[in-house]
Amino acid sequence: MSFILHGIGVSGGIAIGHAHLTAPARLEVMHYLIPKNQISKEIKRLDRAFATVRAEFENLQASVTDGPALAEFSAFLELHHMILDDPTLTDATRDIIEQTHCNAEWALAQQKGALLAQFEAIDDAYLRERKTDVEQVVERVLKALLGHPGYQPPPSKHVDDHILVAHDLSPADIMQYKPHQFAAFLTDMGSLTSHTAIVARSLNIPSVVALHQAHQLILEDDCLIVDGNQGVIIVNPDKYVLDEYRLRQSQLELEKQKLKRLLSINAVTLDGTAIDLYANIELPSDLEQVKENGATGIGLFRSEFLFLNRDNLPSEEEQFEAYRAVATKMRGQPVTIRTFDLGADKNLKHATQFAANPALGLRAIRLSLAEPQMFHTQLRAILRASKYGQVKILIPMISNVTEVNQTLNLIEHAKQTLRVDQIGFDEHIQIGGMIEIPAAALSVEIFLQQLDFLSIGTNDLIQYTLAVDRVDDTVAHLYDPFHPAILWLISRVIQLANRAKKPVSICGEMAGDIQFTRLLLGIGLQQFSMYPAQLLTVKNLILKSNLPDIIPLAHKIIRSDNPDKTRNLLAKLNG
Ligand code: PEP
Ligand code: MG
Repeated sequence: MSFILHGIGVSGGIAIGHAHLTAPARLEVMHYLIPKNQISKEIKRLDRAFATVRAEFENLQASVTDGPALAEFSAFLELHHMILDDPTLTDATRDIIEQTHCNAEWALAQQKGALLAQFEAIDDAYLRERKTDVEQVVERVLKALLGHPGYQPPPSKHVDDHILVAHDLSPADIMQYKPHQFAAFLTDMGSLTSHTAIVARSLNIPSVVALHQAHQLILEDDCLIVDGNQGVIIVNPDKYVLDEYRLRQSQLELEKQKLKRLLSINAVTLDGTAIDLYANIELPSDLEQVKENGATGIGLFRSEFLFLNRDNLPSEEEQFEAYRAVATKMRGQPVTIRTFDLGADKNLKHATQFAANPALGLRAIRLSLAEPQMFHTQLRAILRASKYGQVKILIPMISNVTEVNQTLNLIEHAKQTLRVDQIGFDEHIQIGGMIEIPAAALSVEIFLQQLDFLSIGTNDLIQYTLAVDRVDDTVAHLYDPFHPAILWLISRVIQLANRAKKPVSICGEMAGDIQFTRLLLGIGLQQFSMYPAQLLTVKNLILKSNLPDIIPLAHKIIRSDNPDKTRNLLAKLNG
């Protein structure tokens, strides 16, 4: 049966392919078939994961020897131990692997579903509540399996036309799926500026989020058309619709090829103003796309992605190699490395403490200052890489003077240790701050005195100014970059930075949204940093823009306090 689903298109382009569903677990897992002669090996892998978790429980038990909560903690551990050793979990999961030849993660997720359904049917409220314990134990085993060297990516039946359909994907999940080259990503949850969406855009893969029921309605192997621009999914389309979308797909490809002609042309407005077009990256491997799209620097290297999907922290040496690789390959062009912005939706694999309001909690520079050793390691690595190119340090989520002063002191301390070790670095490395908290935008004058440059993180600035969680699709309609307060704050920061003769860029998603290109040019922005695939589209618009025509209208828009009027003026500006 053919049907259509609507969501939020977060990464453009059209994909046509076959659905590949992740399993119904909080940790998204893949389904794939195990060859008959490998079944016993797969069961051994499952058993090893059970054993790992059993050892974890024993270590936990040994670590708590006294204190008021000892009795309660022991009872809780005993219960989890019992669940872990219960044949309804262990034997039944082994049976599923044996009978259906599926991978261990999938079998475990299926058995979890069956067990939870049984708990739902229990009358006794206390026993019914124990389903949370089952969930926790199974998720632990899944984690052990996923982190296990035996983990296999799904073998591709349709090779590169797999479309991943998940209930939700964290930024870490999507990075893990990166090497499998999916044709598209679909999720029930999510929003336009969630990090999951940002990573999908940086991978240049059509993606639609906030589909609500897609994971339930779409079946494994269904034929899908994904329109990432319109946020539309067509499930099991007929031949005519398929032909129509294949045509659109080739037209889009043609337009993309045409834009390639702009690669070697400088981004200069009609009146001769030169604009810097930089790229946002997550990993050094993104550099290929950066080069393909002609970025003249890296405006935002989200270094925290080096810390995800792993059991340990990256060492100074490993980080240094990653930063040096980027600095060297950019051949003297600016490389702005943001210190790790962990916390909120990007957590270390074994993070155990989750705040009630993570976006307002120990995130970004706050976490760095709370973990000075981890921060020191990163600062030394960045400083060492600064010898190999034009490296800059960018501090995320600054909100007050003290935290910037503390950071500057830590940078100075890291420099001092390198001097003692006689390791070279750029003594004059530029240090900038991200303006993404309204308080920072309102008191930007102070930060302009402390720092060498600023970068406006509009994704968070919008989230924090409008009090709209950027990852919550239920409030996605309130996430409004056109809000007068947002436009006014951005214009204020740009104006004051320009007056202080300090470089200012925008590295949030607004920088790559062509609805805003002329407006931002008109209020004085000369550095844009965005996902690489969008660079040539923005350049195309810059080449056709004349600042003397734009400036008066742009200022009118900033002064407007009526969102409808703003939209009309913007249409005129972009017309
Ligand atoms: C932003 O907040 O706009 C930004 C660029 O940082 P991130 O999206 O990584 O939070
Ligand atoms: Mg941010």
